[in-house]
Amino acid sequence: MNTAALSLSPIRLQRYRALPIAMFSESNISKSSAPLLVKLNENLLKEYGIDSGWFKSEKGLMILAGNDADSISSPIAMAYSGHQFGHWVPILGDGRAHMLGQMKTNHDSLIDLQLKGSGRTNYSRAGDGRATLGSVLREYLISEAMAGLGIRTTRALAIIETGDMVQRTNIVPSAILVRTAASHIRVGTFQYASGTQQISVVKALADFVINQHFPELEHYNDKYIRLLSVVINQQAELIAQWMLVGFIHGVMNTDNMSIVSETLDYGPCAFMDKFKPNRVFSSIDRYGRYAWDQQATIAIWNLNRLAETFIPLLELKTETAIAILEEQLAEFTSSFDTSLQQGMLKKFGFDQCAGENSGFISDSLIMLSEEEIDFTLFFNYLTNVNKGKAEEPFLELFLDRKKGVAWLNEWRKLKSDNPETKVEMHSVNPVFIARNHQVEKAIRAAEDNGDYSVFNRFAKVLVNPFVVSSDNEEFISPPTPEEVVTQTYCGT
Ligand code: AMP
Ligand code: MG
Repeated sequence: MNTAALSLSPIRLQRYRALPIAMFSESNISKSSAPLLVKLNENLLKEYGIDSGWFKSEKGLMILAGNDADSISSPIAMAYSGHQFGHWVPILGDGRAHMLGQMKTNHDSLIDLQLKGSGRTNYSRAGDGRATLGSVLREYLISEAMAGLGIRTTRALAIIETGDMVQRTNIVPSAILVRTAASHIRVGTFQYASGTQQISVVKALADFVINQHFPELEHYNDKYIRLLSVVINQQAELIAQWMLVGFIHGVMNTDNMSIVSETLDYGPCAFMDKFKPNRVFSSIDRYGRYAWDQQATIAIWNLNRLAETFIPLLELKTETAIAILEEQLAEFTSSFDTSLQQGMLKKFGFDQCAGENSGFISDSLIMLSEEEIDFTLFFNYLTNVNKGKAEEPFLELFLDRKKGVAWLNEWRKLKSDNPETKVEMHSVNPVFIARNHQVEKAIRAAEDNGDYSVFNRFAKVLVNPFVVSSDNEEFISPPTPEEVVTQTYCGT
């Protein structure tokens, strides 16, 4: 075997350098005092068809940890703006992230390789440019959970402990997340381009996105309208998918919304245990702006901000351009409603054309909330009932067992007889989600004792969240009352 070839850097180019200079800044990675590769996502590398040799090599580690600046062609930090909780912030940008460049997968697509927590940049403001180990472990587990559930997301490729401590509420260890994504362009990136007041910058950005991600649109005269339409539909589907697994992003600011509709920037996000439509976990979301049931409304709000940046691209009278863009934005609701309804029908084991069951579905969700039932277990046990397994675990979820018996009777009258729905129910109702208390347990063991065993077991389970085996049962249970995590923190 040619070991020299194995340790060649997999980073092939730096595509964002093709953007106008205003859109990024060159920035060096800060040094780490004692870097240690504590996790490498070999499954993901296999998916990409990229050899793990370089990532495991001393050279690779030194580059990723910022200790070998000479061997990497100048990394960049990207500029973006954002509406944070509705408030306009003209300059945000990668304040603690460095784009190293792109890798080519064996499907011939380009994947961004970005470091998060890799030191200060031009956009750091008062921040230290670092990420806490806890927040990195959190992003790793939750993004892996999303990928396992088949939901579009940025990915976690590796975790490097820096050996340095950072000051947050306490002094805690810091780490670097090696993150991959189809793109790191955000709605906020378009807002930043628009803020330069130069149409050529917005146009260059839109053309770049079309060229890199939606080349099939390139030859249309109305390509920008079509781009907006694709983003709207993809976002509508993404938000529906989040909701179908009880996921709450927590900080749906425009700077955290990806143009290619990957779930992006895992902060105080969470999967809910007991179902409650207005559930919020984030400690900073005091008014429930980003609650579970508000996510579609917020997505439309964000997409309106994106559409505003497209107005000059249409080269029409402003009122005409706005009318056309509004027509596109109006598509969100029907696209979202369809995705959510189709997804819910599958979860309940109903036929896809059984739209008349939607009243029963809405009533059932109200009942789930009133009975304080765990969202994941409800569908998981219902899937088992549908397979002919015992009803008892399902009925035990109800505060009032009689209600459960009556509900099952109603459900039986409506459910599909098609044997394929059994398979379908199984494939949309996960057994495992990244439950908060389990995430916390994994972080505590790693952060306090350097013990990665819980983290590693959990990460493995989340790759395949639909299958139970004898060695992964520890991650099924909802929290006991003492274990419940009611709030999540940015913990950056
Ligand atoms: P986030 O809450 O992670 O989406 O970050 C919002 C903004 O704050 C982005 O511009 C980040 O780059 C920046 N930021 C967050 N944490 C830090 C940090 N420790 N140092 C510098 N910038 C940061
Ligand atoms: Mg962010």
